[in-house]
Amino acid sequence: MFSAVLIEKDEAGRRVGVAALDDGLLPDGDVTVEVEYSTLNYKDALAITGASPVVRKFPMVPGIDLAGTVSASSHPGHKPGDRVLLNGWGVGETHWGGLAQRARVNGDWLIPLPEAFTARQAMAIGTAGYTASLCVDALLAHGTRPDQGEVLVTGAGGGVGGVAIALLAKAGFDVAASTGRRAEAAYLHGLGATTVLDRAALTEPGKPLQKERWAAVIDSVGSHTLANACAQTRYGGAVAACGLAQGMDFPASVAPFILRGVSLLGVDSVMAPRERRLAAYDRLSRDLDPAALDAIAQEITLADAIEASSRLLDGKIRGRVIVNVNR
Ligand code: NDP
Repeated sequence: MFSAVLIEKDEAGRRVGVAALDDGLLPDGDVTVEVEYSTLNYKDALAITGASPVVRKFPMVPGIDLAGTVSASSHPGHKPGDRVLLNGWGVGETHWGGLAQRARVNGDWLIPLPEAFTARQAMAIGTAGYTASLCVDALLAHGTRPDQGEVLVTGAGGGVGGVAIALLAKAGFDVAASTGRRAEAAYLHGLGATTVLDRAALTEPGKPLQKERWAAVIDSVGSHTLANACAQTRYGGAVAACGLAQGMDFPASVAPFILRGVSLLGVDSVMAPRERRLAAYDRLSRDLDPAALDAIAQEITLADAIEASSRLLDGKIRGRVIVNVNR
């Protein structure tokens, strides 16, 4: 038996709770993992609250991230005792996920736990932090350099934002952090932001072309924020777009792209190929100070994850949430 957050939906309605489940209920897969830590990402909160149709099959164990130890494997790449990490691949959406003490998954989805991190630290990073690293990789591949000017990070108080600031600062960039939580300015400066802006300047409809300010942008917010960020990006700059915290819409014009040569770089973590994941974790291992992770993350229990989901969607949780599935 193992404990897990379970989302059920049937004629009687939708229910979410912590359940004791029999191993026989685990889904198909060639690797069984004893989970130590999982996380609560924006997508997990959508799944648990039902605010968006993230979950495609019921009953579902949510949790798009997990870290732990292999207990059984028929996959050639993994053996019992291996320390492993999983982000995405539809886990917690179409396949039972990490908010559980045990998981059975496709071994191709697992990567080795990076030596630089404990399972807990890997979950402090989670999909949000790994996505921030993918965004930094995308900007650097575009040719963005620190001498070109400031980089804007939107949704700075969130999980993607916090890790993005820390990685960009370590890479030598001046970072402008946009947040609705001005009271968190000291936290954002502590992560490496040089400037903290009120997000209200970006969330309302704006002109198609605005004063050129940013060499590049990492945006986890979407909607008007992304449109304004593109309109404020300097000639030849790049905007890495990975999120939709304000909205899925993109009420913009083509002007920044055709008149300033701005590039919009889409970033997806869920189906990102293995090599890109390993490169993103190389950057995190090299550049992310474990002390920054301590500042970014807080730990909760499996049962707490249910209540914390609404607070996360309301923007009331700062940084990252680690879930200790054995507490
Ligand atoms: P968080 O909830 O931790 O952070 C989102 C932040 O966005 C909030 O903290 C808040 O920052 C800001 N925000 C929230 N609501 C609004 C709003 N209405 N208007 C403007 N800003 C707002 O989420 P994550 O950082 O984990 O994820 C951020 C986004 O990225 C989500 O949409 C998520 O789905 C997406 N994502 C996408 C991935 C991919 O593969 N493409 C992977 C991971 C995440 P503040 O309080 O500082 O203003």
